[in-house]
Amino acid sequence: MGSDVALLLQTANFAAEKHKRQRRKDVEKTPYINHPIGVATILSQEAGITDVVVLQAALLHDTVEDTNTTFLEIEEHFGPEVRKIVEEVTDDKTLAKMERKKQQIEHAPHCSYNAKLVKLADKLYNLRDLNRSIPKGWSELRVQEYFRWSSEVVNGLRGTNAVLEKTLQQLFTERRIPV
Ligand code: NDP
Ligand code: ZN
Repeated sequence: MGSDVALLLQTANFAAEKHKRQRRKDVEKTPYINHPIGVATILSQEAGITDVVVLQAALLHDTVEDTNTTFLEIEEHFGPEVRKIVEEVTDDKTLAKMERKKQQIEHAPHCSYNAKLVKLADKLYNLRDLNRSIPKGWSELRVQEYFRWSSEVVNGLRGTNAVLEKTLQQLFTERRIPV
C-alpha cells in the first residue's frame, strides 16, 4: 500500500476518533465525521487536488475548533505543514460568534493557497448541506443570511480554484446573492 494511502487512512481515523460524539445540525443528526470526509472528497474529486497535506488538513479542519484536539497534537501526528493549514482555518473561539464571522471575511484574502482550498471546500459542503436539509430551529432567513455571509468569505478566496469557485457561484446565483 502506498504511504500516502496509509497516511490518509491514519488521518481519517484520527478525525473520526476526535469527532465520535458529535453530530451535524441537520434533522437526521448525521455523524459529524461525514463533513470533514466530504470536504476532503470535494477537494479530491471535484477540485482535482492530489496534495496529501491539503487532503489531511481537510480531514482535520474542524478538530481543534470543535473537539479537545490541540495544534501541537496535530503537529506531532501529522507534521508542521498540516498544522499550519489547520491553524489558518480554525476560528478563534475566545471571540464572540459574530466577531468570528467578521474575522473570517477579513482573514480570507490573507490565507495561504492551501488554506484557501480547504475554506472553499468547507463552504461548498456546508451550503450544499443547507440546501439538502434545513437544521432544526433555522428560519429560511437564517439560511439565506448564512449564504450571504459565505459569499462574502468566498469573495476573499477568489483566484484559488476555478471549479470550486464556479460551483459556489452557481449556489449564490440560485439564492439571488449579488457578486
Ligand atoms: P452557526 O455558526 O451556528 O452554524 C453554522 C455552522 O454549523 C456551519 O458553519 C458548520 O460549521 C456547522 N454545521 C453543522 N451542521 C451543519 C449543517 N447541517 N449545515 C450547515 N452547517 C452545519 O450558524 P450561523 O452562522 O447562522 O449563526 C452564527 C451565530 O448567530 C450563532 O450564535 C447563532 O445562534 C446566531 N444567530 C444567527 C442568526 C442568523 O440569521 N444568521 C439568527 C439567530 C441567531 P463547520 O464547518 O465548522 O461544521
Ligand atoms: Zn467545516
